[in-house]
Amino acid sequence: MPELPGARPGRPAPGSKPDHPYSGRWNGSFPRVSKELSRVEESSRRGQILRLLRAEPGLTRIEVARRTGLSATTITRVVAQLVADGSVTEAGKVSRLGTGRPGTEISIEPTSYFVIGVHIGAGSVRIGVVDLMGVSHRQSGFDFEPHQDADVVLDRVAVSVTQLIADTGVDRSRLLGMGVAVPGPVDADHRRLLMPINLPWRDVPVADRLEKMVGLPVVVDHNVRSMALAEAQFGAGKGLSSVAFIYLRMGVGAGLVVEGQAFQGGVHGAIEIGHLRVVEGGEKCICGGVGCLETVLSERALRSALADLGMPSDVSNPFVALLSAAAESPAAAAHAELVVKRFATGLSGLVNLLNPELILLGGFLSAVPEEFVGQLTEATREAVFPIIRPTVQLRRSDLGLDAGVYGGATIALDHFFYT
Ligand SMILES: [Zn+2]
Repeated sequence: MPELPGARPGRPAPGSKPDHPYSGRWNGSFPRVSKELSRVEESSRRGQILRLLRAEPGLTRIEVARRTGLSATTITRVVAQLVADGSVTEAGKVSRLGTGRPGTEISIEPTSYFVIGVHIGAGSVRIGVVDLMGVSHRQSGFDFEPHQDADVVLDRVAVSVTQLIADTGVDRSRLLGMGVAVPGPVDADHRRLLMPINLPWRDVPVADRLEKMVGLPVVVDHNVRSMALAEAQFGAGKGLSSVAFIYLRMGVGAGLVVEGQAFQGGVHGAIEIGHLRVVEGGEKCICGGVGCLETVLSERALRSALADLGMPSDVSNPFVALLSAAAESPAAAAHAELVVKRFATGLSGLVNLLNPELILLGGFLSAVPEEFVGQLTEATREAVFPIIRPTVQLRRSDLGLDAGVYGGATIALDHFFYT
C-alpha cells in the first residue's frame, strides 16, 4: 500500500497535529480509559453551549445561562475559550430582555472548523467538506463495482479524501475528523461496518483503515440513521422533537431522531421498514420473507416493473420514471397506485408505532412531484389510527441524493465538535 502524502499509519499526518483545542482528544487511537472528571464536565458544558448555539444562533450570555442552567461564571469561561479558538464569534449588542445592560450576541463561526462527510453506498462513494453548520463546501466521489473488496474501495476513499482536502485548500489544523455513513449496521463503538445487505463485505474495520491512511479521526454510522440526524440538526427537521427519514435507493430504510438523538434500536440500528410485510402471500423478498415492502419499492423492483411495462428501465431515478409514465399509460398508473398503497401500508406501521412529527422522503423519493407527496400523505392517513391522522406530515428531503454526505458529516460533527 503506497503511503499517502502527509499520512503515517496510526498517527495524524505531519503538520496535522493541530494546535486547536480539540486536538488534545486525538492521539491516533480512541482511549477507552475515562478522562479526568473535570475535563469531561468541561467538555460536556462546551458541547451543551455549542448545541444550543447551533439551534439558536445569536443568543446572549444571559440567554445561554437561562436555557442551559449553567452559571454565568461557567458560561463566561467556556465562551471565552470558544472565542479564543475561533469556534464562536461575538457580534452586535442587543437588549431583548428589557432590563439591565445589553448583551452581546454569540454565534458559531461556521467556517472556523470543518469535517469530512463520506457516504459509502452500494456501488458509489460521495465525499464532502462540510462546515460546523452543515454546509457543504466542496464534493467529489466515484463509482465502484459492488463485488470489489472493501479494502480496495476504502483505499480509494482515502485517496479521494486526501485529494479533496488538497483541492479545497482547507488547513488540516481546521479539520476535526471524518464521519462515514455506511450501508449497514455498525459496531457499538462506531468503528466497523458489520454486515451490509447489498455488498459482499463482512466486519470491515472502516475507521482503523481510514484513520491510518488519511490521518484524521474517523467515526462510522448506519447511513439512513445518519441522514435522519442530518435532517434533524440542519435540515427540514430542525427544531422538531421527532423526525423520521425514509431513504429509497437500492432498498428502503428508515431512520428516526427523537429529541436530537438518533434512535439506536434493533440489531441493525435502523428501522427496517423495507421488510415490513405489506402483502399477505406476496412475492419472496431477498431477506427470506414474503410480501415485504421492498418487493414493490426498491431499485430492483422498480426497474423490473418498468421493464414489465415495456419502458426503459435504465433511468437515473426509476421511481420518478414510473410516476411520469403513469400520466401516459393506464398500466403504469395502476402499478404506481399499487406502489403508493403498499408504501402507505408500510408508513402506517411506522406512524402507528412511533408517530413522528415529520416524515422526510429521501434518496429517489426526494425528487418525486409534490402531487405524489399529497397522495402518499392521504393514503397513509387513511391507514393509521384515527386520532393521529391529522398529525401525519410528509415532505421531500432537501438533502437530495447527497443526503449521505451530510449524514456522515453530521455524525463527525456530533463526535468531534458538538460533544
Ligand atoms: Zn424482506
